[in-house]
Amino acid sequence: MLLGGVETMSKREPVHCHVVEKAARDLLKERGVTLNAVAQIVFDMQLPYNKDLKMEECIDSVDKVLEKREIQHAILVGIELDKLAEKKQLSEPLQSIVEMDEGLFGVDETIALGSVFGYGSIAVTTFGYLDKQKIGIIKDLDTKQEGSINTFLDDLVCSIAANAASRLAHRLRDKQERLREEEIQRRDHEERIG
Ligand code: MG
Repeated sequence: MLLGGVETMSKREPVHCHVVEKAARDLLKERGVTLNAVAQIVFDMQLPYNKDLKMEECIDSVDKVLEKREIQHAILVGIELDKLAEKKQLSEPLQSIVEMDEGLFGVDETIALGSVFGYGSIAVTTFGYLDKQKIGIIKDLDTKQEGSINTFLDDLVCSIAANAASRLAHRLRDKQERLREEEIQRRDHEERIG
């Protein structure tokens, strides 16, 4: 249990960050979400602001976002709930609510939204836009298919793409201002903490 950032009660070792990151990446893969598919959304969102944008930069940005603990934790929680709902292992009435992706159930958005604050206001507004427009793989995930439940996953993808788009926008400005590569990397490192 965490109280003001101080560990109390539990004597268990924390789970190593590499284990958490691998689990989150594996889960995305297992659910059919590739880095490329998310990067395509980022590319489409950022191209109007950067005509020289390369797909590789978008893939790299998505990859960097997935190094962030906040995102990894949201992925673990959200996909776990989708999978449990597919196996009909949630308790009622939650099972029915998640299964039908009930319109007024907003916890899927809330979990995903909680992980966009680390990348600033562009991430927050982009998240809102993607949540409404549902482009690319987000649309595929939102379209109900027999037997599969992605109530949480579509919002998580919005969050990852929004973060990666915001990160790119800030990187672009850093480059325009000709910051030294060392400083860009230091800022990058700071952003990934948390
Ligand atoms: Mg949803």
